[in-house]
Amino acid sequence: MLTNLQARDVATVLHPYSNLATLPRQGSLILERGEGVFVYDVDGKPYLEGMAGLWCNALGHGREELVEVAAEQMRKLPFAHLFTGKSHDPAIALAEKLKELSPMPAAKVFFCNSGSEANDTQVKLVWYVNNALGRPAKKKIISRIKGYHGVTVASASLTGLPNNHIDFDLPIAGVRHAACPHHYRFGRPDESEEEFATRLAAELDAQIEAEGPETVAAFIAEPVMGAGGVIVPPETYYPKIQAVLEKHDVILIADEVITGFGRLGEWFGSTAMKMKPDTVSIAKALSSSYVPIAGVIIPDWIDDALSCQSEKIGVFGHGFTYSGHPVAAAVALRTLEIYERENVLGHVNGLIPQFQRRLKALGGHPLVGEARGVGLVGAVEAVADKATRRGFDPKAGVAAKIVAFAQEEGLIVRAIGDAVAICPPLVITAAELDLLFDRLETALDRAD
Ligand code: PLP
Repeated sequence: MLTNLQARDVATVLHPYSNLATLPRQGSLILERGEGVFVYDVDGKPYLEGMAGLWCNALGHGREELVEVAAEQMRKLPFAHLFTGKSHDPAIALAEKLKELSPMPAAKVFFCNSGSEANDTQVKLVWYVNNALGRPAKKKIISRIKGYHGVTVASASLTGLPNNHIDFDLPIAGVRHAACPHHYRFGRPDESEEEFATRLAAELDAQIEAEGPETVAAFIAEPVMGAGGVIVPPETYYPKIQAVLEKHDVILIADEVITGFGRLGEWFGSTAMKMKPDTVSIAKALSSSYVPIAGVIIPDWIDDALSCQSEKIGVFGHGFTYSGHPVAAAVALRTLEIYERENVLGHVNGLIPQFQRRLKALGGHPLVGEARGVGLVGAVEAVADKATRRGFDPKAGVAAKIVAFAQEEGLIVRAIGDAVAICPPLVITAAELDLLFDRLETALDRAD
């Protein structure tokens, strides 16, 4: 029986990423407020936020300092744009800070509002710049099966998950998908992680050769796949992939929308996972999601090519009304200051051993086939048969059941296929982390 608010919700709000057939019967969990790593529903029940919202609320709730900086900026200059010869201090200061932190030598930052927009911008830049460089055939972009890059037309095409394509008439032309680096699922019997990484690099090489290297422009990858099920590639995967990309003059775009700003214990996941990206997409923890803001960090040679294009054709015809929105930029800049002032990276590094120990211990649960993770992100994958790794019938909705039990226990986690993802706020304490795993364990026991 739905409450009045739940009934109004399902009657009026078209919910993203929801089963629109079952949601009207089940109703939504309606949240009212948050404090630290806890959120409270309209009845006042607290939930430990085991997903930092959607992998994004790194500093938790109730940061008055961020509220104040937003209010100050709204009083001073609530809106100004960056189009046609205009700028403002918050965007300039934020771009400077991001250049300083960037995992690759950075020239400039293009601002946008979401991870999807950032990756759409990446696609457009690849096309535009290769035209500028006089190689109009070099346009294809390779992403990976199970990669997640967003939902706009181009970024959903990059995403390698069936529900983002089926009946949306996607992917668009020129997007290709390479193999997913999930050893547990796709490694051959007796194939070591190292051998698996070598095979995937060889397959990518063959794929680029088959397409024609002169037609392949870029490879996009999350350092660790998030929404595809928290998939951590083998340690040597990126160096091997990178060598193939360099051989064929294919650029590497790092989608750091989840991994940026501390999730893996370093400012960027690229560094932690031994990637050397040419460009980087950022969002989410950039502002700890207090306001929407995202961006693309570009190197000199792309910046030069863009200027060249303007010499030829005039205006760079890309940008959003809210690119570098002053309130969002001010909040993001303060967020980065808080990460530094509070040594959030140090805190994360202190917690990682506990997080990984408790996570890996769940691998011994009768329902769990694989407990995987890196840094402060992880997942447990439920299997019907641990020995053969056989999954459950998708109709059984096992992960959804675990998530529902967790919610009853006062924990928010996320179901992805047969996996349950965990991605707590970076500021979670050791005691709260234990509480998270205790509750998850209870939910697993109840689902068993
Ligand atoms: N890229 C990655 C790696 C993501 O995880 C997401 C969202 O979860 C996106 C892109 C899309 O971001 P948004 O939902 O802000 O458009």
